[in-house]
Amino acid sequence: MIVTNPIISIVCPCYNEEQVVGLFMERISAVLSSTNYEYEIILINDGSKDRTLETIKNLQTQYPAIRLINLSRNFGKEAALTAGIDVARGEVLIPIDADLQDPPELIHDFLREWEKGFDVVVAKRVDRSTDSWAKKLTAELFYKFHNAVAQVEIPENVGDFRLINRRVVKAIQLLPENQRFMKGIFSWVGFKTSVVEYKREAREAGETSFNGWKLWNFALDGITSFSTAPLRIWLYIGSFISALAFVYGSFTVVKTLIYGIDAPGYASLITVMLFLGGVQLIGIGVMGEYIGRLYMESKRRPTYIIEEDSLTSTSEPKDRVE
Ligand code: UDP
Ligand code: MG
Repeated sequence: MIVTNPIISIVCPCYNEEQVVGLFMERISAVLSSTNYEYEIILINDGSKDRTLETIKNLQTQYPAIRLINLSRNFGKEAALTAGIDVARGEVLIPIDADLQDPPELIHDFLREWEKGFDVVVAKRVDRSTDSWAKKLTAELFYKFHNAVAQVEIPENVGDFRLINRRVVKAIQLLPENQRFMKGIFSWVGFKTSVVEYKREAREAGETSFNGWKLWNFALDGITSFSTAPLRIWLYIGSFISALAFVYGSFTVVKTLIYGIDAPGYASLITVMLFLGGVQLIGIGVMGEYIGRLYMESKRRPTYIIEEDSLTSTSEPKDRVE
């Protein structure tokens, strides 16, 4: 039996998490039952290839607060999170990872700040020593670049683990895009925000699904979703190169008038040609990135499809509530 009017909705996307979801439930239930609020724990199975779905269904008998949302396939973390946010009924929502990298105990601090009147409480990692140096470096580069070019700043070392109240959820649902870069969306909507600090733990078990290529694409999603600077910069790069060419051309004319014609080198010519060809291709490539995204967005496809919702017992596929 699930509670009818939960105050807290935990929103947890799960992809291949059969090894940790049990541990996760143990830790988070202990935290939630020590608060005085009614709660629901929304576990979104994002098309896991292991036995995550069966594991969650078994856990439901032990933890009636679980609400299972089973997506029809793997839609990715951003879409799974969006599904959870859309179906959640609580007054406050807390997105959290299943792998216990986000310590559930921090929820006490979230609630304390929320009780003080904050709409958003974010968790800031003060210690990322459990992440590899490559991840730390690329994350830092991403934040630096993103914040330099995008209109809204994403605070560094702040993930999706946070508390948002109903007002913020309503604002988030006003953003109609289907390709949802949640970190950016969370920042974009704004509201009165408080920060609590924590140390990021290592994954309890299982493996990260964000590595190399996927992380790079995720970064591109973020930058193209919230900035057009990479498109506009070509105006300046082009102007700069044209100015250089003009100066060099004038110089050549004057030099020819004074010293007469000498046959210029083949090597310098080919270098300039290849350089310009390369620069143009990069420009076209950047444009391609945006056009591709425009194309995907213009199809207006739903962000996710829910195959099963244990609360409403629907088994009909359902798309995003607009
Ligand atoms: N996740 C998901 N769908 C995916 C990939 C990941 O729902 O396609 C979930 C995953 O189960 C976890 C969270 O997103 O709860 C974060 O994933 P992960 O721990 O692999 O990422 P990292 O912490 O390394 O950034
Ligand atoms: Mg993780």
